[in-house]
Amino acid sequence: MYSRTQNENGTYNTRCLYCFMTIASAVESEQELDRLEARHICPERALAELLAQEKLIESHAQQN
Ligand SMILES: [Zn+2]
Repeated sequence: MYSRTQNENGTYNTRCLYCFMTIASAVESEQELDRLEARHICPERALAELLAQEKLIESHAQQN
């Protein structure tokens, strides 16, 4: 999940909503934004997914 904003000169900034890191600024095209966002490896998101997986495993274990 990313938050894109546009600058007065028409370029874009994009920020990750998981770790609130600015991934890129003054990007000239949306295609470039897509590329840069895809390349972001998010530590917060990885952690959140890991925790979600652990919860899932725990809830399965309790059911059985
Ligand atoms: Zn991130």
